[in-house]
Parts: sequence; C-alpha cells; structure tokens
Amino acid sequence: MADVFTYFEDLHKMPEIGMHEFKTSAYIADHLKKMGYEVQEHIGGGTGIVAVYDSGKPGPVLGLRADMDALGTKDGGAAHLCGHDGHMAMLLTAAEIIKEQKLVHKGKLKILFQPAEEISEGALSMLKGGAIDDIDILIGMHGRPIQECRVGQAAPALYYSAATHIRYDIIGKQSHGARPYLGVSALDAACLVVAAANALRFDSNVVYNLKATQIHADAGVPNAVPGNATVTFDLRSQSNDVMDLMIKKLTNAAKNAAASIGAEAVENILHSTPASIITPEVTNIIAEVIKEELGSQALIPPITTAGGEDFFWYPKEKPELKTGFIALGEDAQPGLHDPNMHFDHSALPNGVKLHVGLVKKILG
Ligand SMILES: [Zn+2]
Ligand SMILES: [Zn+2]
Repeated sequence: MADVFTYFEDLHKMPEIGMHEFKTSAYIADHLKKMGYEVQEHIGGGTGIVAVYDSGKPGPVLGLRADMDALGTKDGGAAHLCGHDGHMAMLLTAAEIIKEQKLVHKGKLKILFQPAEEISEGALSMLKGGAIDDIDILIGMHGRPIQECRVGQAAPALYYSAATHIRYDIIGKQSHGARPYLGVSALDAACLVVAAANALRFDSNVVYNLKATQIHADAGVPNAVPGNATVTFDLRSQSNDVMDLMIKKLTNAAKNAAASIGAEAVENILHSTPASIITPEVTNIIAEVIKEELGSQALIPPITTAGGEDFFWYPKEKPELKTGFIALGEDAQPGLHDPNMHFDHSALPNGVKLHVGLVKKILG
C-alpha cells in the first residue's frame, strides 16, 4: 500500500540539483515500474521521466507533473528547500493508488517527473523530448508558504509572474587615469545604461518591475579607467506581453546609452520563466476536485505571486495545451528557498487526494 510519508523521507534524503537528479529519477522510475507503469526515462537527454497508463479507450490525454530538483547550498551540497521532495512523494503515491484501483477508464494518463525547475531548463527539456506532444490537459502543483494558504486549504490557480535576468556586457576601452580621453569608460557607460533603464515606462495597469541588481566595473587598480563592465537586471511582470516588451525596450535603451559615449552593450539572457498561462475551464475542474476531496471549506480563491515557475514554458511553447496549476496549503516556513524551510507534512495526503481526484474527474 502506498505511503506518501515513506516516499517523502526517502526522496528528502537524496537532494540533487537541476539536471543532476540521477538517484532521484532512478528511485522514481524503479517504483513506477514496480507499480506496473510503462516508463520512459532520460526524456530530452536528461533525467526526466514519463509514466503512461493508457485505458485503450478514446478520451483526453491528461498529464500530471511534479518537479524533482533541489537547491544548491553554500557548502556545495543540495537541499530540498522548495518542497519538490513533497511534490514527488505526492504524485508517486497518487500513481500507485491510480494503478491499484484502476482509475483510468477513458483516454490516457501521463505522469511527468520533470528535472531542473529552479534553473528553468527542465520544462524545456521535457518539451524537447516530446513528453507533452500528445497531452491535452496538463496540471502542476506547488506547496505554499504559511502566509498564502494554510494546511487543509488549496487554491485552484496560482498566478506566477514572468521573471527574466539579463546581463549586459559593456565593452569600452581601458585607459590610464591620467589620460581618460584616450579610452572609453565602461563604468560610465554602465551608469548610463542603469539611468536609461530607470527611465523606461510600461503599461501601469499591469504589475511589473525592472531594476538593476548587479554592476561590475574594475580595472584592478585605482588609477585606470575600466574598459569592461557588466550590468545585470531583474525583470518581473504579470503579463508575458509586457515582459517581451520590457526585454526589447531595455536592450534598445542599453545599446543606445552605451553607444552615446562610444561603448557597446551586448545582451545575455541568463534566465527566463513565463508568467502563468492558465485555462479557466481547468481551474473550474480543479476547484470542484478541491471541494470533493478536501471539503468545500478547503477551497480558497486563486493566488497571485511574484515568484516564477518554469511549468509555464509548456503552454508558452504549445499554445493549444490546456493547463491548470494547484496551490496546495503546506504551512511552509519561514519561506520557500529559506535554508531553514520546513512544512507541515500533514499536507502530503491532501496533495495525493487532489491528484487522484483529478484522474477520477477527467479520466473516470
Ligand atoms: Zn523554488
Ligand atoms: Zn519550487
């Protein structure tokens, strides 16, 4: 019989960073095979797994997705500070119940264990591996901090922000401190880039922000003017359209600001996750399942967060895909990604019930 707590304890003890989830994915694949699933491994050349349960009858193809990676720690190790160990344990336990009770009566169920959510590469690797090619409805879930959603509660949609990190490499010409007119100060150019960025304006009806977060310019000595600099920006928006426009206008501003004194700015996108793209019809299904499985008092309204989630690469890259995203109350404290992050494990059976309930509702 499935035991979500045992799976959790096992997975919690093997934290691995994105694209290095070797022990984790072997553990999951092994259990899925023992349950009787047809299991595809090394999706997209990585550690991704897809388990398939085909009813052999017509109907929708439902995908349920969990993420597998942990965060790197200062000592060079890794730790499950975002609760992905819990996500895996809940989906693995649900997979066992679904198979034992033969709950797929129509269509097909695909259970996805995705690598590298934190570095925003995992969903793209699953897409590359064709994991969602035949999926009609894809649903993800994330445990929430205590401030957003309490244990016993769940929200039927979680609206994440789009997040992008861009570094501009500024190329000028180094010069002696006594003869700055013979060079082009990359430090001055970097300051102009920041000033130009701060003068950009976007649709004030959309929540967004754009700010420089890192600047480096140093010729190594106090009597030389640096010829190279970097400026990094962090961009957030609730709208993918506004994010696309911010990137375009920021790069244009950076290039022109640097060029105004004869320097060059080269764009490097370091990290990017799209804002939530959620299908209202799927949100309604999730809301019904929350009420049925956890009780009507458990359902709370959709949540908006400034955080990012790479799940939304799936609908961004495959616009016809219907998607839903569950916010599960876990009382995580002090917060996700905190080195002391912990959550109330009594939330684990709730996540199992929601996954099982979705299969009964959509494929039953
Ligand atoms: Zn995280
Ligand atoms: Zn996470």
